[in-house]
Amino acid sequence: MTTKQTLTAGQAAMLEKLRALDFDPDMPIVDRTTPCLPWKGASFSDGYPMGWRNGSTRRMTREIYAMSRCVPTEALDGLIIRHFVCDNPNCHEFTHLAAGTTTDNMADRDNAGHTAIGERHGLAVLTADLVRTIRAMYVPRSRTHSAKAIANTLGFSRSTVRDVLIGRTWSHVDAGAA
Ligand SMILES: [Zn+2]
Repeated sequence: MTTKQTLTAGQAAMLEKLRALDFDPDMPIVDRTTPCLPWKGASFSDGYPMGWRNGSTRRMTREIYAMSRCVPTEALDGLIIRHFVCDNPNCHEFTHLAAGTTTDNMADRDNAGHTAIGERHGLAVLTADLVRTIRAMYVPRSRTHSAKAIANTLGFSRSTVRDVLIGRTWSHVDAGAA
């Protein structure tokens, strides 16, 4: 299961360009303060928004990501577009999307507790809202909404998320109805 995804030189260059846009230190497109934008149309079996263009179905997160970064959708071939800020497949908020590879996803998992992507880019700063989000996302005994999965999705270390969940930190923030 540890097969590395190999990018062509062109794909690697495109990913580098997209990451520079996603996580520009001065003005990153990826933004945690914008709420999710649920897709009201049809969706694929994995919950991702489905659109229709030129006679075929389209994965709208890819279309929207491409439009918002001013690149043709075909430029994303070989790359994955994932929900970086939220873990909501139905969300099509462009500031919640980031380009990556399947290798990134595996590295995120391997590095849980050490260097999640958000930390590398200096994005992972806990706020009361994020604490409420973490507590709302958590589902006991769920593989997709475990402390580790939430840590990967939001770019925090596993111990940070665990401390929030057990109330060792941020105990003054109640779960509330976010
Ligand atoms: Zn979202």
